[in-house]
Amino acid sequence: MERRFGGGRSGGYGDRGPREMHKATCADCGKECEVPFEPDGSRPVYCKDCYSKHRPERRY
Ligand SMILES: [Zn+2]
Repeated sequence: MERRFGGGRSGGYGDRGPREMHKATCADCGKECEVPFEPDGSRPVYCKDCYSKHRPERRY
């Protein structure tokens, strides 16, 4: 089971199969990274390294 971010469906990609990765820029180190959700600009996006340092406090 997996929680989806935001709930806004884009396109019509199903829940199974390979994950759609979206290009994003890490809000911490500025490195280009890919995230498994669509960055909507309302929250910072972190690369894998920085994400572990900046654990989101809110639950999704
Ligand atoms: Zn980073």
